[in-house]
Amino acid sequence: MAAGFLMTPPSGMSYSDWSPAEAVREAKVAGYDFVKVYQPDRETYFCLLRAAAEHGISAEGHVPYEVGVDEAADSGLAIIEHMTSSVLAACVSDPPDDPQSPTKSPRRAAFEQKMNVFTFPLRITPECRRHATTLARNRTANVPTLSTLSPTSSDPRIKDMQAAEAAALKILDSAGVVVLAGTDYIVRHRRPGESLHEELEMLAAALSPLKALQAATVNAATVTGVPAVGSIAEGGPASMILLAGDPLIDIRNTRRIDGVIQRGRYYDRVARNRLIQGTGAAARSP
Ligand SMILES: [Zn+2]
Repeated sequence: MAAGFLMTPPSGMSYSDWSPAEAVREAKVAGYDFVKVYQPDRETYFCLLRAAAEHGISAEGHVPYEVGVDEAADSGLAIIEHMTSSVLAACVSDPPDDPQSPTKSPRRAAFEQKMNVFTFPLRITPECRRHATTLARNRTANVPTLSTLSPTSSDPRIKDMQAAEAAALKILDSAGVVVLAGTDYIVRHRRPGESLHEELEMLAAALSPLKALQAATVNAATVTGVPAVGSIAEGGPASMILLAGDPLIDIRNTRRIDGVIQRGRYYDRVARNRLIQGTGAAARSP
């Protein structure tokens, strides 16, 4: 298990009254494994990354609209969350003609320019390979969270973005960028656990079932610094699931969980249902 702390000012405090370097130091002292950076202004963002490097704590998270993907990777960001507003935006071409509409804030205009929201279909440019090489050189991993774009959407712009994300992800993968499986459960009210299967299906379609599995197991374990949990080996923690079908043939077989072994103890379907019901009852009790 690895735990991180979100680097934003405490509620009620503005960014200008907050010391990002001090917040990183406190997270390190408190024993967190990493800090999560979100969407501050450029100066605060790079201050957070510098402080993380100084204190020897990993930084992961977003790439704000005003920061380049390559700048973030070169400044030590260990993991980039999401593709849509960062990697994909950096990989598509043709900025809109006039993003600086006076009715928009500069921040919003920069985002739209980067996102290329006005120009469909999206076109992956050769820049994408340059960004992929930069990420690979810095060992900056990516959690694409493909499923934040609804897999069942019939909106042609969403479908176009999905295709572009799959194309960009292939370029990252072939450049040697480590890809991780993760989801945002608050998006579209998706359920933790269930939503990971959805993400695995999208990763398998973009790359391969094997790479999707690796993204959720060995890659995640290596990047978070707990390699023992990501593979099955003698002396390991003996936690794994047994499936009723081969996920390398069809990734949806990861949903067909037949047995669970948790730290050497086997839970069959009956035992698991008992646990789930017990958890549900505990959650409902006042
Ligand atoms: Zn996020």
